[in-house]
Amino acid sequence: MRHSPSSGTPCLVCATPIGHAPTCPADNPEALYLLTEPIDGGTRSWTIAGARYTTTEQRRSDVRAATGDMRWFRPIDEPQLPMSPGLFIQAVLEEPSFGRHTARFGISPTRWLRVPDCQCDRWRCHHMPADMTDPDLVMQVSIYAFVLRFSKGWDTYWIADTGVSRVALAIDSVDDPIPVAHTKACARRWCDKCPGTMKPRSDAGVREPCACTCHLPTSPA
Ligand SMILES: [Zn+2]
Ligand SMILES: [Zn+2]
Ligand SMILES: [Zn+2]
Ligand SMILES: [Zn+2]
Repeated sequence: MRHSPSSGTPCLVCATPIGHAPTCPADNPEALYLLTEPIDGGTRSWTIAGARYTTTEQRRSDVRAATGDMRWFRPIDEPQLPMSPGLFIQAVLEEPSFGRHTARFGISPTRWLRVPDCQCDRWRCHHMPADMTDPDLVMQVSIYAFVLRFSKGWDTYWIADTGVSRVALAIDSVDDPIPVAHTKACARRWCDKCPGTMKPRSDAGVREPCACTCHLPTSPA
């Protein structure tokens, strides 16, 4: 039996041996995030839902390493993907909250997150990467990313897929408001797909030019 007793092991977040400190997110049913940290231009919030894989700095750094060489695709290009993860990606894009906003999505083709496949309390799992040579204890998790464009900026969802279940590990929010008079395409940085003019507000309206700098005439070489 691979179950390891984990009571009496200090909580990985609040270090309390039994139970949790009042400030610990483990005991707070309202808490959505384990912690929020600065990233370039915004913040990364590590979710409680993904805490099994992210309670320690070492684990979070494993996640960062696993997301280091994402291959990026744009939904507008209708990329042909293998059934796995194509079906999953398609299902996400069909959710209105994601599909309407996704500028690009990423798949990590060569790196996996190695996580302990154990029965521990997720707040007290003492299986550390050094243990991870035991093949019975290691599970390989795929990582996907969805980059969503909103009027105020970009949200990136980092999703772990165990093959059985999927969970958002972290959500990055970067402030970058869509400048005025940018088409949907240029707002998503699909500049090559921009028609050059804005959709008129009414049938009789005129098409205003898209103000994205990609339409500026290029000077002759
Ligand atoms: Zn705790
Ligand atoms: Zn464990
Ligand atoms: Zn553009
Ligand atoms: Zn444009």
